[in-house]
Amino acid sequence: MWDEYTLPQDMDTNEQQEQLRHRLHLLYHELRPRGSAYSYVVDTEAFEEHLDLYVGLRQSRDSELWPEVTFDDGHISNYEFALPRLVARGLTARFFITAGWTGQRPGYMGWTELRAMVAAGQQIGGHGWSHTLLPHCDQQQLDMELRRTRLTLEEKLGVAVTTMSLPGGRYNRRVLAACREAGYTQVYTSEPRAELISSEEIVGRLNIRGDMSLEWLQKLFGTDSKVLQKLGQQYRWKETAKRMLGDSLYAKIWALANRQEKDASEAPTE
Ligand SMILES: [Zn+2]
Repeated sequence: MWDEYTLPQDMDTNEQQEQLRHRLHLLYHELRPRGSAYSYVVDTEAFEEHLDLYVGLRQSRDSELWPEVTFDDGHISNYEFALPRLVARGLTARFFITAGWTGQRPGYMGWTELRAMVAAGQQIGGHGWSHTLLPHCDQQQLDMELRRTRLTLEEKLGVAVTTMSLPGGRYNRRVLAACREAGYTQVYTSEPRAELISSEEIVGRLNIRGDMSLEWLQKLFGTDSKVLQKLGQQYRWKETAKRMLGDSLYAKIWALANRQEKDASEAPTE
């Protein structure tokens, strides 16, 4: 019954390529024209080079990985700097929005910017209401962080919101069940991992920091690259450290290590 396994005849070569390759989701936060010492900021010119690399990788028959771009938090630079660069290359990214910060928190997008994102064909997902780490929430808080976020984004933007990115990448079984109950079919984490199909319930992502060079990214996507495996291992060590130290001590160490400019008592902006 080979017919069952062949791809539909009317698919063009690029579509076939897309179906057969593992997806690697990249996670960005903030862009700035001259970069920053803060590790979650990526320089705008470097971001353009990354996008050109991703376009080339998607077109290349040799590449095993299919890059997908995502952004967390809803920073205003997503609209100012990322959107025009994505549109210029015909790319669609997924923007995970902290709903309670929208139009409220200085430096973050408002509804006007988000509507422009949707009008330009970009995708929107939830990133909680207040960016609280979800395993710390009781059932009532979980309902606000998940259901209220989805309903507000859907009502204000007129699109279905079925994807959720977990603040700090943190979750447990209770959080996953609450996500499902609140209407999310896919949950995006910060575990660097590639997936064969895009319909997995839990989607891994690789966090892109400002100090990662283009050469490093090229190596990551290279044939038989072991970089992703090593990153996955490092991530699991980090998770073990979080469990052993507890979230608040881990957050303080994280802020020091990443030269966080914001209030050091804030949770990691992952
Ligand atoms: Zn975040």
